[in-house]
Amino acid sequence: MIGRVSRNPGEASDMALMIHQFICRSDNFGVLVHDEDSGVTAAIDAPEAEPIRRKLAEYHWKLDYILTTHHHEDHVAGNLALKEESGCRIIGPAGEIPGRDEAVREGDTFDLGTLEVRVIETPGHTLDHITYWVPAAGVAFVGDTLFALGCGRVIEGTMPMMWHSLEKLLRLPDDTDIYCGHEYTQANARFALTIEPDNADLIERARIVDERRAAGEVTLPTTILMEKQTNPFLRVDHADIRHRLGLDHASNAEVFGEIRRRKDGFRG
Ligand SMILES: [Zn+2]
Repeated sequence: MIGRVSRNPGEASDMALMIHQFICRSDNFGVLVHDEDSGVTAAIDAPEAEPIRRKLAEYHWKLDYILTTHHHEDHVAGNLALKEESGCRIIGPAGEIPGRDEAVREGDTFDLGTLEVRVIETPGHTLDHITYWVPAAGVAFVGDTLFALGCGRVIEGTMPMMWHSLEKLLRLPDDTDIYCGHEYTQANARFALTIEPDNADLIERARIVDERRAAGEVTLPTTILMEKQTNPFLRVDHADIRHRLGLDHASNAEVFGEIRRRKDGFRG
């Protein structure tokens, strides 16, 4: 699937980012982004080298950067081979990132061709997790922090830490396209319906997700607005969810923690 994102079509400098998303391993996403104006290409994470290598050849793109979201093996396994072949630079969080040339942190910005990338620290799934936001293209690459209808497991951080990271993503513009690290949407929908069985938007979305998966299609990207309407992990301030969980007066972080724990134990 090729997405071409252009938010300023009338301007002389048409900021256009081509985005190509494909499955790696079993349920990881490989993502290639290509700035048409400069010809610069980046991979968002490198779950494995071969499918990324194949897509680069298919599109005649030369790999200039790998942008790593976090240290998990299924996000960095292709780093060293791809760097060796292409001479690309690897940008990522501080910590154990294979082949990393440059460490970035909260508030850092860098150029991807003609486009500015902003770094948002989103710890919780891992302590080193970061999100890459490209405001001019209206796109964010959130790794394993936020998923369509779900969020990452809280493995290294704490529930309040993860909630704080999700709050940062909630402040992105509603029409921001969100690219995630995994295709987990169908299972996430089954769980989401246990938290909000009467949410009409969620019921409709779950139906569409089932259709798309049955047709062999992926369900990403999503948008911040779509997640606000249907993702239970982002809807912890809604009275009906709180009431169902018996947490009418709890903090948002506590409600988030309860939903996350229920998901961890969910076998749907
Ligand atoms: Zn991970």
